[in-house]
Amino acid sequence: MVPRAPIERECDVLVIGAGVVGCAIARELTRRDLAVHVVEAEEDVCCGASKANSGIVHAGFDARPGTLMARLNVQGAALMPGLCAELDVPYRNNGSLVLCFDDEGRAGLERLLAQGLRNGVRDLSIVGGDEARAIEPTVSPEVRWALWAPTAGIVDPFLLTVALAENAAENGAEFSFNERVAAAEPARGGWLVTTSAGSWRAGAVVNAAGLDSARLFNATVGDAAPRLSITPRRGSYYLLDKTAAPVPSVTLFQLPTDKGKGVLVAPTCHGNTLVGPTAVDVEDPLATETTAAELADVAEKAVRSVPDLPLRSVITSFAGLRAHEAGHEFVIRESAPGFFNAAGIESPGLTSAPAIGVMVADAVSRALCATQRGDFQGERLGVPRFADLPGEEQASLVAERPSYGHVVCRCELVTQGEIEDACRRPVPPRTLDGVKRRLRAGMGRCQGGFCTPFVMQVLERELGLAPSEVHKSGARSWIVDGPTKTGADDPVAKGGER
Ligand SMILES: Cc1cc2nc3c(=O)[nH]c(=O)nc-3n(C[C@H](O)[C@H](O)[C@H](O)COP(=O)(O)OP(=O)(O)OC[C@H]3O[C@@H](n4cnc5c(N)ncnc54)[C@H](O)[C@@H]3O)c2cc1C
Repeated sequence: MVPRAPIERECDVLVIGAGVVGCAIARELTRRDLAVHVVEAEEDVCCGASKANSGIVHAGFDARPGTLMARLNVQGAALMPGLCAELDVPYRNNGSLVLCFDDEGRAGLERLLAQGLRNGVRDLSIVGGDEARAIEPTVSPEVRWALWAPTAGIVDPFLLTVALAENAAENGAEFSFNERVAAAEPARGGWLVTTSAGSWRAGAVVNAAGLDSARLFNATVGDAAPRLSITPRRGSYYLLDKTAAPVPSVTLFQLPTDKGKGVLVAPTCHGNTLVGPTAVDVEDPLATETTAAELADVAEKAVRSVPDLPLRSVITSFAGLRAHEAGHEFVIRESAPGFFNAAGIESPGLTSAPAIGVMVADAVSRALCATQRGDFQGERLGVPRFADLPGEEQASLVAERPSYGHVVCRCELVTQGEIEDACRRPVPPRTLDGVKRRLRAGMGRCQGGFCTPFVMQVLERELGLAPSEVHKSGARSWIVDGPTKTGADDPVAKGGER
């Protein structure tokens, strides 16, 4: 029994979970005259599956025709370029190939083609091996046939989530972090939601809690209704350095298996190469460790697609957990009046997020009889990326703010000014990983070996934290424990430059 906390706060809509789905829903809700609050268990946005995926905007041929997954995939892929332009988020329409290595595999491609056509995907075609290699020269000589999907793309999943959250906040949504929802029960005029930090009374609740979404769904659906079952399905990756060559610029899949889309080799929007993921069911919803066996599996499969793949250029490995629903379908519906769910949002959930946002916000708005606002501002400008600016603009930025002249992360050329700007935005980073996801400081070849102390120092100053309060990711990932020197020469003890 969860102890009942006193009622502390109220809103019209409480969104549970600040992943890409919760943030997309929150932003769409702020188009209406609704007080929207997003409550997130972790310390920042984008801490679940949204931070550890392939970043692919899937064309939409994988999902079974007639499913919600198929419809929202195709709608989301169509919305993505415009949304990214509006929110200043990197997106590239690079196309994808599904490769097959023998004539028997062609039937699998035909099935995907037929599915894609039924789902409404444009411009799909099956091409021979030579044509596939003309589209993407790194493709293996062993490839016999491929499905070419020119509408597929790639997006920066971190910045998409951050930008959706920031724009929602700019339009009035509020966020609380380190606040985990424990339970929800119907109350007069809506829902009473108990959290680790108190409680909320909300007219409607949206459950976008990723791996925890089944628990909340099952607690609110009637006793006679079928239970939802979600299994964490781990996907492990290698990330290759930007200088790695030869690497593909088109996303390369292999024929899907019963566990998913298989191992891919794909560029990221920032010029790295992703290799993975695996698909291994685990019990622990925190089991994001990588294992030698899974990574060996990734390497073995990936070199079938790109035989010369430069795996010696690996700079890190990581894993994410898909919220795999037993029926492999998105569960987007009310489990009780006023309790809306976006549950079991596994791949292609990133692609579908813009469409899920519209769908859920429409349903909530209808239920609450909300009206459209006239003053919604959909455009958002990101932190200026100093390294990409023309020389003149760099010079004027440095003249205005000298901290833009201090390069903190040498691998990714991120300046102190950019970190300060990120900290002054509506949804600021709170940890090193929060800075990394927003600006790429620590994302490069040295993986933070050089920039960590400098980024810590900016976070301390901007957020008013003590050094021991700056964490890598969650609240328990300390970097420093306390001063090791107390002498007059110690720059840290004096709070000065390191
Ligand atoms: C390995 C892998 C590869 C993928 N590749 C792709 C791809 O290429 N393209 C694509 O379209 N999709 C892809 N996906 C799927 C995509 O990443 C997800 O569908 C999407 O990120 C789900 O977003 P979400 O917001 O529902 O979940 P999450 O990002 O997991 O967010 C849920 C949030 O809820 C919070 N939360 C949980 N419980 C509570 C609680 N009780 N109280 C408060 N907060 C809570 C969590 O901390 C988390 O931040 C991939 C996924 C994985 C794991």
